[in-house]
Amino acid sequence: MKCRHCAAPLQHTFLDLGFAPPSNAYLSVSQLSAPERYYPLRLKVCENCWLVQAESYSHAAELFPPDYAYFSSTSSTWLAHAASYAGSIVRQLALNRESFVIEVASNDGYLLRNFVDAGIPCLGIEPADRTADAAEKLGIPVLRKFFGEALGQQLAREGKQADLIVGNNVFAHVPDINDFARGLKAALKPGGTVTLEFPHLLRLMEQTQFDTVYHEHFSYLSLYSVLRIFAAAGLRVADVEELPTHGGSLRVYGCNEGDRRKDSASILSILAAERNAGLKDIDVYMAFQKRADAVKDQLLKFLIELKHEGRKVAGYGAAAKGNTLLNYGGVKPDLLPFVCDASPSKQGKFLPGSHIPILAPSALSERRPDVVLILPWNIADEIAEQHSYIKSWGGQFVLVVPQIRILQ
Ligand SMILES: [Zn+2]
Repeated sequence: MKCRHCAAPLQHTFLDLGFAPPSNAYLSVSQLSAPERYYPLRLKVCENCWLVQAESYSHAAELFPPDYAYFSSTSSTWLAHAASYAGSIVRQLALNRESFVIEVASNDGYLLRNFVDAGIPCLGIEPADRTADAAEKLGIPVLRKFFGEALGQQLAREGKQADLIVGNNVFAHVPDINDFARGLKAALKPGGTVTLEFPHLLRLMEQTQFDTVYHEHFSYLSLYSVLRIFAAAGLRVADVEELPTHGGSLRVYGCNEGDRRKDSASILSILAAERNAGLKDIDVYMAFQKRADAVKDQLLKFLIELKHEGRKVAGYGAAAKGNTLLNYGGVKPDLLPFVCDASPSKQGKFLPGSHIPILAPSALSERRPDVVLILPWNIADEIAEQHSYIKSWGGQFVLVVPQIRILQ
């Protein structure tokens, strides 16, 4: 396999999580008796450009079926994050009724609704029908396509270049990251701004967030690799911010390569932090598997002890990262009988691979588990606050990554 960015041969697999079904392939009752497809889940790192990437194995169409179930608006933390971003970028770029905003992977309209409310013309790009339907109900025009260079050029030909292109948690999810970056370049007005948010590889490596590895997530990005990818597409990163979302993300502000705006000092400081953490040191990558295995072993030990003690356990949050963790550990309903999730589209279904049933959050007060594992640790505080009533029967929330700990 060659590097998706620079085409150098990839020599190093540094994380092997075995085989797993696609993380978002939730199953109905009837699908439980059908065969399930498993794909290898392995990470490689390029020693030339240091892009961390998943082994290639399948097509995007298979990973994002029309009934793809992730609705961004389910998380109130994420909605607040989006509203706050929209308010500040509108002020910063002085966007108005004459401006044009494009969001790639606009999901259910969780972000663009803020631009519609402010009277700023916008366009969502979203291939999944059910989330696109939800966005259109909010008055957001949606183009139901995958984004790349061809679509970027089409938008340019139609006079739809944007003053602002937003991509939140999509850059790491595209199989052809160079084509996507060229699409951004084509769809960007001269003087326009691109902002992309993606989980920061630095946090994954430091905090053993191996459960953020899943098939839909093709690239694991450092600022260093993004600078190179942008430059190859004729774009430049002019500013970068660290965000707490998804366990530690970066938001880069990009512009055309010839743009006159100055580079911010935060670029050099984040590049230095990445270098100091060993993101350009192959030995640091090669030590990662042992750390991931330690987390997995600790989880299994914990669940087996709870079972022997006769204590009741549940999971909360049928998120992709939970599926990676549970499938890598081989956890089945005997160790974790059910998982609750607030999203009605997931309730009544089963987690891929583990076949653990997904129930409505009301199952917590009905079954009164002693321990509730929060699987999407990035929204742990929100979940613990919403369901703080589990304390009334002595229930405790527990986080697994990077180590087992009780949430107070
Ligand atoms: Zn490379």
